[in-house]
Amino acid sequence: MREERPHLETLAVHAGSAVDAATGAVTPAIHLSTTFERDADGSYPHGYVYTRGGNPNRNALEEALAALQGGAEAAGFASGSAAAAAVLRSVEPGDHVLVPRELYHGIRKLIDGALRPWGLQAEAVDMTDVAAVAAAWRPETRLVWVETPSNPLLSITDVAAVAELAHERGARVAVDATWTPPGVADPLALGADVVVHATTKYLSGHSDVLGGAVVTARVDEAWRRVRFLQQNEGAVPSPFDCWLVLRGIRTLPYRMRAHTEGAARVAAFLAGRPEVARVYYPGLADHPGHELAARQMRGFGGMLSFRVAAGSAAAMAVAARLRLFTRATSLGGVESLAEHRASIEGPGTTTPDDLLRLSIGLEHPDDLIADLAQALAS
Ligand SMILES: *Cc1c(COP(=O)(O)O)cnc(C)c1O
Repeated sequence: MREERPHLETLAVHAGSAVDAATGAVTPAIHLSTTFERDADGSYPHGYVYTRGGNPNRNALEEALAALQGGAEAAGFASGSAAAAAVLRSVEPGDHVLVPRELYHGIRKLIDGALRPWGLQAEAVDMTDVAAVAAAWRPETRLVWVETPSNPLLSITDVAAVAELAHERGARVAVDATWTPPGVADPLALGADVVVHATTKYLSGHSDVLGGAVVTARVDEAWRRVRFLQQNEGAVPSPFDCWLVLRGIRTLPYRMRAHTEGAARVAAFLAGRPEVARVYYPGLADHPGHELAARQMRGFGGMLSFRVAAGSAAAMAVAARLRLFTRATSLGGVESLAEHRASIEGPGTTTPDDLLRLSIGLEHPDDLIADLAQALAS
C-alpha cells in the first residue's frame, strides 16, 4: 500500500530532521568538519568522505528540498546563480537552449558572459506564447528554461504546455521557481524535469543567507551531470548556510500564506489608486495570465510590480518617501522591500523606468497599505 504523503506544513517541519542519536538534540548540530574518518577496511561507515562531496547539513537540506518539492533528489548550491549555471551546463556545448525574453537579469548576465562563451546556444523567446516556443525550436534544442511569474513583470508561462511540447521533441524543461516555492506552485507535477530555486529568497526567508538548489523529478543522465558539477566545481553552501535554509523551511508554508495574503491586499489597493498607471500581479482579474496562474499556482505569491503614472522621477520619489518598505534589491524576507528595478538592471534593461517592484514581507498589510498611501499622495 502506498503511504499517504504528509501535508506540506508537516513535511516542512520534519523533512530532513531526526533527533540526534548521540546527544538527543532536537535541532540539528552544524557539522563543520571538512573530512570524515575511514574504517580500517577502507570504507566510510557514515557515508561521508569530504564535505565538498557531501555533508550532514547539506544532505539534510537536500532531503527536505526533495520532499517539499516532490522530487527524487535535490542538490544544494552556494547561490541560485550557481544552481542555474549547473542546470544550464547539464547540456553539451553547442546545444540549443530556449530562455524567456523576460528573464531574471542575473541569469541573463550569466548566460551572456559565461555560458555563451562556453558554447551554450541560448535563444530568447516569448515563453508565455507556446506557439512562439514551438516556432523557435531547432533540432539541437535540448532544454527550455522557464521563469514564472517572470521578473519583474510577473508574466505567466504555461508550464504544462511547454513541458508537453518539449517532451514530444525530446528536450527537458527547467523552471526557476524562486518566486513560487513549494506550496505556491508545483512545477514537477506540471511536467517540469528540474526546478531551480534561489534559496536566498523565500526558502530561507530572512534575507540572511545566499543559497541555491536544484530539485529533479528523476535521477537521469542530466541529473548526474548537475550532481557532478556540484561536487566537483564546489559551488556548495557551507554547513551553516544549509542549517539556516533548513531552519527557514520549517516555517515556509505559513510565511507564504502571509506573503501571499499581503501581496493580494497591496495589489488591490494599488489598482484603485489614480497615481498608479498599472499593477502587475497575477491575482488581479485583469492580469493577462490570471486564469492560467489560478490553475497552476496556489495563491498568487508575494511579489508585485507597479508603474507610477507621473513617470520615472515620480516613481523614484515614491520609493524615497516609503518608510516601512526598505529600498533594496532581493525578495522573500520578512521585511518588505521596494526596488526601482530598471536602475538595478542597468543599461540595456527593458524594464519600464517608472516601475517599482515590491517584495511583500510579513508586516500587517494595513500598515504596508498606509505606507504606500502616504508615499503616493505626498
Ligand atoms: C535571486 C534570484 C536568482 C539568483 O539567486 P542568487 O542566490 O542571488 O544567485 C535566480 N532567479 C531568480 C528568479 C531570483 O529572484
